[in-house]
Amino acid sequence: MTTLPAPKLGEPYLLTPGPLTTSFAVKEAMLRDWGSWDGDFRAMTAELRSRLLALLGQDKDRYDCVPMQGSGSYVVEAMLGTFVPRDGKVLVLCNGAYGKRAVETLKYLGRACAVIDMGDYLPPRGSQVTEALAADPAITHVLAIHCETSSGILNPVQEIADATAAAGRKLLVDSMSAFGAVPLEPHQTPFQAMVSSANKCIEGVPGFGFVIAETQEIEAAKGNSHSLALDVHAQWAAMEKTGQWRFTPPTHVVAAFIEALKAHEAEGGTAARGARYLKNRQTLVAGMRDLGFVTLLEDEWLSPIITTFFCPDHPRFDFPDFYDRMKDRGFILYPGKLTAAESFRVGHIGQVDSAVMQAVVDNVSEVLREMGVETAAPSDATLEHKQAVPA
Ligand SMILES: *Cc1c(COP(=O)(O)O)cnc(C)c1O
Repeated sequence: MTTLPAPKLGEPYLLTPGPLTTSFAVKEAMLRDWGSWDGDFRAMTAELRSRLLALLGQDKDRYDCVPMQGSGSYVVEAMLGTFVPRDGKVLVLCNGAYGKRAVETLKYLGRACAVIDMGDYLPPRGSQVTEALAADPAITHVLAIHCETSSGILNPVQEIADATAAAGRKLLVDSMSAFGAVPLEPHQTPFQAMVSSANKCIEGVPGFGFVIAETQEIEAAKGNSHSLALDVHAQWAAMEKTGQWRFTPPTHVVAAFIEALKAHEAEGGTAARGARYLKNRQTLVAGMRDLGFVTLLEDEWLSPIITTFFCPDHPRFDFPDFYDRMKDRGFILYPGKLTAAESFRVGHIGQVDSAVMQAVVDNVSEVLREMGVETAAPSDATLEHKQAVPA
């Protein structure tokens, strides 16, 4: 039984990791205009910042929250450019597209970097971080991708945080697709700065991202940034002083986001949201496996955010055709991003529950029948290629 209202008639479910399916209340919150300098909107900005900080748990008073205009990549770039000094060096833990993008960003910024590249989906481990940091004293910061959305792997951020802190280096986390559904609390998992955005697990609409960082790190970062618009320190200093964003804020997006934060709290916060997403994944993965599909990752590494499935080997299977048929039935899937095997992804975040996930499975089953695909099993070559993740 669906507990969440369906999207409006004709509007498909977005099974993508942001933009995602939002509630009617979130959309409705955008139906008025705000003056960016006005007290009403300044109060909204203050509420947004304090509600996000509250998600950090007991150590929140040591941190501050700085929203920045733009999509998630803008805040990743803002974080790297602001907290990594020009003579700093970043160890990037890379196992997918977002790690690669961070490396490219650092190149643009002219910041030195070292990379542990695990390929498409193997997790970077704490022991590797310890080794790399011992071998290269020039490394000042470690960048971890919390959930690498390109494969759906939930990276072992606790191990990474422990290894980084033990070596006396600073940790930056891209928690874009995890924050709000997977806990990231500094008393447990120490970090200096993290980023996420409005249109992921908090279930807002796209238009801004936010940095949450130790206040002392923000203060110390003055003058580091190569960019005026992406200077987190400057944005923070202006907000502290005036309560305003430096440049035109996405007012409607902020209004929608506050509605989304209220719903997040009403649902039971990060724990309850993560539990709903986990149940979504369990329903999806169990149903898809019954149809013969194989997940890229072993269960231990699956995230509650998004799951990658190998494409069926059957000669009548064609992903664009499969995609269109699923879309006609009201479900937008997400193409895969693996280099070595054909795959696709199904996001399980947003205003969807396990009844929706069961509907996805039922519709996939019917679509395969329509296409004449008797089994969804991938090829033996694909399965051989799939590397086991060491325990
Ligand atoms: C969504 C996402 C980003 C940001 O992508 P944008 O398209 O710029 O919003 C960055 N990192 C991760 C892990 C993400 O999931």
